[in-house]
Amino acid sequence: MKARDVFNKHLAPTSPMPLGLEISHAQGVHIYTTDGRTYLDMIAGIGVASVGHAHAQVIAAVKIQLEKHAHVMVYGEYIQEPVNQLAQTLAGLLPHKLQTCYFVNSGTEANEAALKLAKRATGRTQLIAFEKGYHGNTHGSMSVSANETKKQPYRPLVPGTRFIPFNSVEALQAITEETAGVIIEPIQGDAGVRIPSQEFLEALRERCTQTGSLLIFDEVQTGMGRTGKMFAFEHYQVIPDILTLAKGLGGGLPIGAFIASHRLMQLLSHHPMLGHITTFGGNPVCCASALATTLIITQPGFLANIEPKGQLIEQLLQNHPNVAAIRRKGLMLAVELASEQQVDELINYCLAHGVIIYWFLSTRNSFRISPPLTITSNEIKEACRVIQAGLDKLN
Ligand code: PMP
Repeated sequence: MKARDVFNKHLAPTSPMPLGLEISHAQGVHIYTTDGRTYLDMIAGIGVASVGHAHAQVIAAVKIQLEKHAHVMVYGEYIQEPVNQLAQTLAGLLPHKLQTCYFVNSGTEANEAALKLAKRATGRTQLIAFEKGYHGNTHGSMSVSANETKKQPYRPLVPGTRFIPFNSVEALQAITEETAGVIIEPIQGDAGVRIPSQEFLEALRERCTQTGSLLIFDEVQTGMGRTGKMFAFEHYQVIPDILTLAKGLGGGLPIGAFIASHRLMQLLSHHPMLGHITTFGGNPVCCASALATTLIITQPGFLANIEPKGQLIEQLLQNHPNVAAIRRKGLMLAVELASEQQVDELINYCLAHGVIIYWFLSTRNSFRISPPLTITSNEIKEACRVIQAGLDKLN
């Protein structure tokens, strides 16, 4: 049976039209397919391969750990060096309120656990989220994600969730003493890269403090350098009670994390104990990969290069007559066109010409660019030449 036939028959589909590239290998910003083609990866597996594909330091760290041991026990029981080191390293990058990590397996699981922790810590049940937000696809995270079309077939979802407009200071009055937690992407990703005002995030922090509601920043997409700082909240100096990470954290291996104060986190260990549990969370091989990735991102000069690279992409595309708008922070970009059809046409053109850009789930008139943070200026220019040629061809 051909690989494509196996894929079509034995792997569950997520859409009627998967891209279906048959992967041979990947290196740096390039993905190579079995038919001998090379693609410039301008999306990094949706913000995952932040230090590029097959980074030598990540491979070395994974190999060393794999030879020592892989899974030995469920999360939270044994002391394992790469897990300890990763937690300590992240704590060193975070403010004093965010010093205790709980490693999980994905972004959605990190958010599930963060929502549970908010309920456990406050004894309240109401959850507030924001219009156009996205937090994952399991029941809890889907409950606080906005896209109603995607949620409808799976109702009933978690009760007591409420949505308010993003970036509206007035709307924050909806947060009250009944609110357990407020979950927000400090820069919305799937909404097509929406950047809130300083005033809004400060008012949100203040309102949560006033009402005793826990503020959860979902930095699954914005974390680990994507926006030019290690964490997007650093652009605002607004600190959440709980921070969630995944995607770029693992350097290509699956890992998520939710991070809070030790005081909050210990609530999961009693009344009842085992308040959140996971078999694979904190997998030592994934943690070794995440640690190597974090050490690359924190090397001197690495973060400082991200914003100029994003600016270069913006400059190369912004004046094209078919570009309606670009929204961007660091290397997280949304490029808005006139219509969904134009977005489809452009993505297909770029794919046919060896450049991978991609859709947003819910923002159909824009496409995303989120390349490996290690991309060079020349690679950016090469990709943008193809995107420009595709834009020229749009009707
Ligand atoms: N939160 C945000 C902001 C995301 O962008 C995503 C993934 N697109 C998730 C949560 C869910 O992460 P995962 O797919 O790893 O469950």
